Amino acid sequence: MAAQTYQFPCLSDNFGVLLHDPATGATAAIDAPEAAPVEAALGTTGWRLTDILVTHHHADHTAGIPELKKKYKCRVVAPRGEASRIADVDVQVGEGDIVKVGNLAGRVLETPGHTSGHVSYVFDADRLAFVGDTLFSIGCGRVIEGTPEQMWNSLLKLRALPDDTQFHCGHEYTQANIRFALTIEPGNAALLARAKEVDALRAAGKPTLPATIGAEKAANCFLRADSPAVAAAVGMSGRRPAEVFAEIRERKNNFR
Ligand code: ZN
Ligand code: FE
Repeated sequence: MAAQTYQFPCLSDNFGVLLHDPATGATAAIDAPEAAPVEAALGTTGWRLTDILVTHHHADHTAGIPELKKKYKCRVVAPRGEASRIADVDVQVGEGDIVKVGNLAGRVLETPGHTSGHVSYVFDADRLAFVGDTLFSIGCGRVIEGTPEQMWNSLLKLRALPDDTQFHCGHEYTQANIRFALTIEPGNAALLARAKEVDALRAAGKPTLPATIGAEKAANCFLRADSPAVAAAVGMSGRRPAEVFAEIRERKNNFR
């Protein structure tokens, strides 16, 4: 049976997501920004929390873990490289490990850059990816603990997923990301179409995620650092994609 998801807002601009296996009843929270909205989501769906899959150690992804662990006795799965910085970890995972949520099988991708041990969870059969703060719609996470080169390679791993893969990320930043992306690719038709769509969604109070990898490849300049047009747009024709990526990321850091 196909996976079901339920996405909801947490904190000021975080997403919470539940992943549910209807065959077994197993339900995972992807990250736990805070406990109360996760519990409310469990109430709404009628699902029972069995697992928490953690993408990285930042508090806005982990602060709810101790309370949820205490209440539901759920299993906490977290990246091996950051397990010492995350509370209540039961299972440590790294590249290529398979995490089961009931009968659903998630593959662990190491996607460092935002943090040194950040992982993403890819449920290939369900065409679902949970990418934390590595990839955002029309953006990507800040490179805090890693290098731009690492982040670029992490984004390439996500970009290589099938086009119809739906990804969920940690934050609703899309509208602000688009304002910046238009400074890099003002004529990108896919980006202009996404801008229209996102303005309509936000005006209606709706989330802009999940999005598909295919649509993102066409519109997200951070996934397009190896496109000659993007390199030219930042005056770096012929330079390595990782260098072009670093330049775009730096411009975004300074963009107001
Ligand atoms: Zn983060
Ligand atoms: Fe975050």
